[in-house]
Amino acid sequence: MSVAIYPGSFDPVTLGHFDIIERTSKVMDRVIIGVLNNQAKTPLFTVEERVDMLRNVTAGLPNVEIQCFDGLTIEFARKNHAQVVIRGLRAVTDFEYELQLAQTNRVIAPEIDTMFLTTSLKYSYLSSSIVKEIASWGGNISEFLHPYVEERVLKKYNEIRKK
Ligand code: ADP
Repeated sequence: MSVAIYPGSFDPVTLGHFDIIERTSKVMDRVIIGVLNNQAKTPLFTVEERVDMLRNVTAGLPNVEIQCFDGLTIEFARKNHAQVVIRGLRAVTDFEYELQLAQTNRVIAPEIDTMFLTTSLKYSYLSSSIVKEIASWGGNISEFLHPYVEERVLKKYNEIRKK
């Protein structure tokens, strides 16, 4: 059985992430999305909120599941008996970092491979940070997010503004 993990912050999940998830789910038997609970970053959403949004947007993909993790991606992959780590490549700016990460992981865990999917052109500019920047200024984010996620983001910024 082919198992892939797709790790990331997903703060929040965008249509760009979803595109990668959907395409991966077509070629792998099982896809496990790993939501990184990284103490060093200060995310907008809690890990539970990020998992909830991912569950909602992937509800129609039966071979996709969501877990959260901390620590090394490779350990998370091993724990789930995954052969492959999926990463999305948007532009050359992603390349250097991703290459370094993939090569390091290959030294630590030669049995696990990193596979890159290039983004669909229409999402190649998209990032969670850009979406948050636009939303924080009250801009329209409906082009970039699943409706459920859009609603969560708008609600979050409304709560922040009230504070
Ligand atoms: P990280 O903190 O690991 O960069 P992200 O949630 O930002 O977490 O991204 C997770 C993965 O999704 C990364 O491989 C990233 O390159 C990819 N990704 C991010 N945005 C997009 C997008 N618009 N299209 C395709 N892949 C993307």
